[in-house]
Amino acid sequence: MTSQRTRDRLIARLEEEGIHDAQVLEVIRNTPRHLFMDEAMASRAYEDTALPIGHGQTISQPYIVARMTEVLLQPVIPSKVLEIGTGSGYQTAVLAQLVDQVYSVERIEHLLNQSRQRLMKLNIRNTHLKLADGFAGWRQYAPYDAIIVTAAPTTVPHDLVQQLAFGGRMIVPVGEANQQRLMLITREEDGVVEQELEWVSFVPMIKGQHSGRSS
Ligand code: SAH
Repeated sequence: MTSQRTRDRLIARLEEEGIHDAQVLEVIRNTPRHLFMDEAMASRAYEDTALPIGHGQTISQPYIVARMTEVLLQPVIPSKVLEIGTGSGYQTAVLAQLVDQVYSVERIEHLLNQSRQRLMKLNIRNTHLKLADGFAGWRQYAPYDAIIVTAAPTTVPHDLVQQLAFGGRMIVPVGEANQQRLMLITREEDGVVEQELEWVSFVPMIKGQHSGRSS
């Protein structure tokens, strides 16, 4: 189930879907996605699909992880990246192998703790995780060269734009359920440029820290 052939098949599929960045494809080939989900789901880890990770959340589809990462790496590879929505930690792990430092914020403690353990197990040491409401970003380490948001707010979060360096880029799915658009926001010294990319489907970005029990 985690054979090289299954992983090769996923990479071939991502290429067919239009992912061309060789570095991104290589990192996805080498990142054990099956370790970022419950064992019960692991047999499906190399399918190009989102899968449940508990608490009503999902590990993103490999295509969307590849696509967002590819966009973030252009035109120059960012050094310091902020991620909102750690979830399983899979996107965090992919990014950490491509940039210098990844700061990641998650609102559900159990998911954050699991991610921390997984990243440690894979000996990925350039990630910094925090339990908080991602709408506020992570001011302490701002500005960031790039921000990636992996849950969908209904409008572009203002505080996050403010934490981008000038020339920095944010990729974020924006909109109500079933009508979200992936957006690329570039912060320039004299304003903000917004570009609409493809239609996507993410879990909603929720205000406030999670306080309930685990599912
Ligand atoms: N990149 C992750 C995606 C997980 S799903 C992965 O591939 O595993 C989106 C995650 O965003 C969920 O874990 C959810 O709890 C988190 N999230 C939603 N709203 C948030 C907020 N306001 N602040 C921080 N995290 C949030």
